[in-house]
Amino acid sequence: MEFTDVILACITDYGSRVRGKGFPAEDLRKYVDEGVGLAPTNLMITCFGEIVDTPWGPRGDLLMMPDPATAVAVELGEDRPAERFILCSLDRMDGTPWPCCPRHWLRRGLEALEAEFGLTVNAAFEHEFHYSGVSAGGGNAYALDSFRQQGAFLHEVLHALSRNGGVPEMVMPEYAPQQFEVTNAAAIGLEAADRAVKLREIVRAIARAHGEKATFAPVMAANAVGNGVHIHFSLRRCDGTPVSYAPEREHGLSRELEGFVAGILAHMHEFIAMTAASNISYERLQPNRWSAAYNNLGSQDREAAIRICPLLDRPGLDLSWNFNVEYRAADATGNPYLVLGALVWAGLEGLRTKSTVSGVTQGDPGDLSESERERLGIRRLPTSLPEALHLMETSEPVRRWMGEEFLSAYLMNKRSELKLLDGLDLPEQIERYVACF
Ligand code: GLU
Ligand code: MG
Repeated sequence: MEFTDVILACITDYGSRVRGKGFPAEDLRKYVDEGVGLAPTNLMITCFGEIVDTPWGPRGDLLMMPDPATAVAVELGEDRPAERFILCSLDRMDGTPWPCCPRHWLRRGLEALEAEFGLTVNAAFEHEFHYSGVSAGGGNAYALDSFRQQGAFLHEVLHALSRNGGVPEMVMPEYAPQQFEVTNAAAIGLEAADRAVKLREIVRAIARAHGEKATFAPVMAANAVGNGVHIHFSLRRCDGTPVSYAPEREHGLSRELEGFVAGILAHMHEFIAMTAASNISYERLQPNRWSAAYNNLGSQDREAAIRICPLLDRPGLDLSWNFNVEYRAADATGNPYLVLGALVWAGLEGLRTKSTVSGVTQGDPGDLSESERERLGIRRLPTSLPEALHLMETSEPVRRWMGEEFLSAYLMNKRSELKLLDGLDLPEQIERYVACF
């Protein structure tokens, strides 16, 4: 069979869905130069595919500007065309960046971090997901048998990642039945978020080609272990040298990384509606789920909002390149540009205000007394999306980072999503998210 090669120019919208328009591959150069038209209201499509409210109505035009460095081609066998897509930022018709574009927002945060502090972020997104192609029966946590059952799927995923600008590092059967994890090496700035978008879509594409489904919903059932997206990050100077590790300081955090982390912890309640972006995200963010329930910093603690990761402790190793921390209160309903953007803008706020962390928790913050938590600045994270959206709406810093139009469009999109869940109980809500993530 013969095919016309088609490339989809894609954006990742507020609902963290990747949507776009296709054109014959031979026209790529033209569209890289001229862009592909899009209505602003396209961003207001909820993750469920329906538009409820929009500030822009049927009016206005934008351009999706494909970034040639992000082109992806996933080979899916001889008898079907490769899946090809390219990631875009959104510009106005005059070529200036659209202020409500998630990818531009991350870029602006990174530019400010570089201009004000000479720093950038090196980050890796770890993704957990469920794959329908293996037994749903229990007993296979981390099991070789689970890896065996998935057949060629993960091998193809790793191959496609490395062919498309990724650097796969680790793949594993995870704890829950049908759960797997794939990790990509860290990349600087925008590329880290681009890699996250590509990884999710590559995993989904290859699962579909096997007649199966890969699902990144934050939870698959009530009271079950969730699918997290953990963001490992460290700071680099703009010449690439690491600036996160200071062995003489407490817990090894350099002054720069401490300020950055302190900003994230201080503002986490206000921006968490972007990293745990669905109503069912808060089913995952509960105590004793190996996710995060408080805005705490923990050392080697998988229930801390930010975990200081372990370091190989062998003589002669230069640890400064490996030292990193991990933000755990995210899942795939959060748009990767908004997730990393929130961390960058909040971290920048921490640096600007010379913030320091008030302590590293040992054990579950829920076991501390109220006054001890208060002394450490530790608070329970929001327990629902409406609560998180309210904290976002009333946050002066978030309004300043995003600007009025972008913030109110995001809030409207998420409240539209909530309207579509009206009257549904938790299992029914999960079912809706599972269907589209
Ligand atoms: N599945 C857990 C989560 O929801 C994380 C388990 C782990 O530490 O890898 O984040
Ligand atoms: Mg994991």
